[in-house]
Amino acid sequence: MSYSQNGFFDRYGGKYVAEVLSNTLAELKKAFTEALHDDSFLRELETIQRDYIGRETPLLFAETATKLLGGAQIYIKLEGLANTGAHKINNAIGQCLLAKRMGKKRIIAETGAGQHGVATAAACAKLGLDCTVYMGEIDVRRQQPNVATMELYGAKVRAVTSGSRTLKDAVNEAMRDWAANADTTHYVLGSALGPEPFPDMVREFQSVIGREVERQAKERGLDVAALVACVGGGSNAIGFFAPFIDRSEPRLIGVEAGGKGDGIGQNAVRMTGSVSREGIMHGYKSQFLLDEDGQALSTYSISAGLDYCGIGPQLAALGKRGRIEFTSARDKEALEAVRFFAQKEGVLFAMESAHAGAEAIKLAPTLPKDKAIIINMSGRGDKDLFITSPVFRKKEWLTFLHAETDRLEGGTEIHEAASMKGEEPAQNL
Ligand SMILES: *Cc1c(COP(=O)(O)O)cnc(C)c1O
Repeated sequence: MSYSQNGFFDRYGGKYVAEVLSNTLAELKKAFTEALHDDSFLRELETIQRDYIGRETPLLFAETATKLLGGAQIYIKLEGLANTGAHKINNAIGQCLLAKRMGKKRIIAETGAGQHGVATAAACAKLGLDCTVYMGEIDVRRQQPNVATMELYGAKVRAVTSGSRTLKDAVNEAMRDWAANADTTHYVLGSALGPEPFPDMVREFQSVIGREVERQAKERGLDVAALVACVGGGSNAIGFFAPFIDRSEPRLIGVEAGGKGDGIGQNAVRMTGSVSREGIMHGYKSQFLLDEDGQALSTYSISAGLDYCGIGPQLAALGKRGRIEFTSARDKEALEAVRFFAQKEGVLFAMESAHAGAEAIKLAPTLPKDKAIIINMSGRGDKDLFITSPVFRKKEWLTFLHAETDRLEGGTEIHEAASMKGEEPAQNL
């Protein structure tokens, strides 16, 4: 099941949208399919992946971690070394190149925590496209560092004030914009979900991860027992797993956010939890965390990228078939994994990716030493200092924040910042 059949992966997927968008999606599918068979498009994509994203990303042998855990060899795919710090840029660059090819000069995107917004803003800056990012008002307030980064890249961030003022409302608002402006505008959806052809398209642009891993593992003669990835919407996982889906090996393991516990609103477990149900939302059918009236339940994770209430349809189908095993890691386990890999390997995992790291820590000791496990480190953890610092060193962090507030309210810096804002950038640099 490496590709959808008319947009479906077994019972999941599809294209549940209004008439206006249906035509736009059909046009997109046609353009995408043609681009995938056009050598000049593929060469352009490869060049920008190499020179701008920084591919290929390394496959690191985690030697100390392997020794300490005493089982299978642990390898880490360092996707966090991609420009902008995570795998999301692979999809953003691919879709923006496609938009250019289709003659669309305006890009819109949704973002929750802001990671996809940052990747799309960067891709648009690189490719000379106009960029608008829809983001729930509450998320705008919570995620100022990413809002600031998007604006630095030149994107416009629109705060969405409808509904719960978070990610799902941002998706709805982006869909509305797209329906009204499809002639000029492409909607860069951020994960391997949404209506056909997005799940296929996002997987194809992310599958560069899996293709590199396959080659890197072969070059080193690894006997790979398992691939482990965290699962939010599912784009890093499906791209990592893509070349291996139609084989019986290695084991493919998806790790969801176990959050604080099993209660409703305490996690984002869609494949292994008891309250998950089949539903249709955001234009596709999949497993969602919904109440009896079909409304999204609240979700929670310490990681900003793993708390979406749905999951990509292909992952859901492969989970039901048993090809992908699903498990979850709690906040605490993810935090421990961050510390473990930082101190033993000098590698700082993003909180999302640390869920996969936590599973590998449990799995490695149960497997023989001649086998390998590969973790996809979907992103690096620099972005999470505001999350990890309050946990690991709360007192010092509070002191720092108070001091920063005092300093900024003190006067001189505000003055300088205000005068810089009015200045034109120097032309002769
Ligand atoms: C957004 C994000 C995720 C979750 O998204 P997927 O589509 O499931 O990959 C995982 N890791 C990082 C670093 C992210 O930014």
